[in-house]
Amino acid sequence: MLGGEDVQITPGMQRHIDRNNAYLAKRDKYIREVVKKWKFDTIAVHGLYSVEDAIEDYQGAIIEPIFMSASQAYRDSDEMAAALAYLIPTWCYSRIANPSTYYYEWTLALLEGYGYDGETGCCSTSSGMAAIMTAVQPFLVHRFHNKLEPRNFLATAQCYGGTFQQFNVRLMEERDIECRWIKDPTDIDAWASQIDENTRFLYGELPSNPGQGFFDIEAVADLAHSHDLPLICDATVASPALMRPLCHGADIVVQSATKSLTTSGFGVAGALTARKDLVSTIDNEDLKRDFALYVKYLPNRDYGPNLHPMQAIMTLNDMRTLRSKMDLLSRNTMKVAEFLSAHPQIESVQYLGLPNHPLHELASRYMWLVDAECDEQYGQPVNRYGHLMSFCVNGGAQATRDFFDGLQRIWRATDLGRIKSVATIPAISTHQQQGEEGRELAAIPPNMVRLCVGGEHPDDTIADLDQALHAASARTAVAVGSG
Ligand SMILES: *Cc1c(COP(=O)(O)O)cnc(C)c1O
Repeated sequence: MLGGEDVQITPGMQRHIDRNNAYLAKRDKYIREVVKKWKFDTIAVHGLYSVEDAIEDYQGAIIEPIFMSASQAYRDSDEMAAALAYLIPTWCYSRIANPSTYYYEWTLALLEGYGYDGETGCCSTSSGMAAIMTAVQPFLVHRFHNKLEPRNFLATAQCYGGTFQQFNVRLMEERDIECRWIKDPTDIDAWASQIDENTRFLYGELPSNPGQGFFDIEAVADLAHSHDLPLICDATVASPALMRPLCHGADIVVQSATKSLTTSGFGVAGALTARKDLVSTIDNEDLKRDFALYVKYLPNRDYGPNLHPMQAIMTLNDMRTLRSKMDLLSRNTMKVAEFLSAHPQIESVQYLGLPNHPLHELASRYMWLVDAECDEQYGQPVNRYGHLMSFCVNGGAQATRDFFDGLQRIWRATDLGRIKSVATIPAISTHQQQGEEGRELAAIPPNMVRLCVGGEHPDDTIADLDQALHAASARTAVAVGSG
């Protein structure tokens, strides 16, 4: 456990500690001997919530209860003292922990750690942006080796618009922490040449939203570790059903659980999952030993970006069927990408699943439908590339908006990972704040449309795209004719 260094342990506290240690030993054995042997789908459906938990503690409820309670009561002062010193597992106050978020965290820790033979821990957050903040802040301490040191980190320039703002404005402009953008993350020298003694971590989003950027996780992780630095990945677009960076050497994975993990669209959520015993030049043993627990119990206790228990269970409920949904959405997206690639009004299509995409081969090394080899339908490994694609429309910004306005079934919204198809124009929405220069850096042209294909039959999605393209070209023809 974390903390408790300056606490006087009374015999009464020791009894609580012993009782809880027995509980933890039993839980760890259950994880090791039972849960870790399950397939991905079984972990997604059950996580750590067992029949025994349900019967003993929750009146047999087969669904994890939503603990709408701000705090936890204790049997006596000894238990309270032990709990608040973090000497026993506790949830004490919902800003720190909560039984509902506990089950959500464990499911995600196990899914991100599926196929990885070490231990993983997860810290839930109120959103994906909060997860990124939680992941990066502990490495950016100003006082370092007893001096106030300059701080920098490396990050892929192709990243989510909110991430760009957090790094560029909140950290660089407001706090003088340098973000060194990596324009071509497939070039390992581009990373290597930017690392110096003040670098604190490497950060990469893949596949990137919306540009489908990708990089070689193993190579970048090896580079990071050779400098005693951790690699943080944002793997939101893939979700653990298609890619688990911890298995390839990454140290921390952030998720905007708002997206694929909450396919239904019932709200905003986030999480980070970390391996145990990560490397860092930061002199903080607790941080390195169990990063997820450290940020949960200390920095996030003090900053408060916690997840609501209601949201935790809503998201958990969607996660149970993650694998089959990611398979369905990926297959539908492939069909739509093939249709658009052949369409005369489309300038280009960016989808990692298309064989002509420059990063197709690299992505194919990392993006696999988990457990396809033991799926009756496939019986062998199959690549899946997710639900996010983008494409550029012929005729520039106005033609693109005409097409976009003509969509009838596909929703115009800045959203992704939904069971419903959703489209947006990044230059006027998600990437609007960062200005033209920032968009150029992130490779976001004004005629780019981001499309996230949902669970509708792909023929219907294709028909909607086709009619909107026809309508837009008719409008352009009229405008040209009358002008
Ligand atoms: C949406 C998104 C985020 C931010 O997550 P929120 O839950 O909206 O805060 C971060 N990274 C990626 C790749 C995203 O798509």
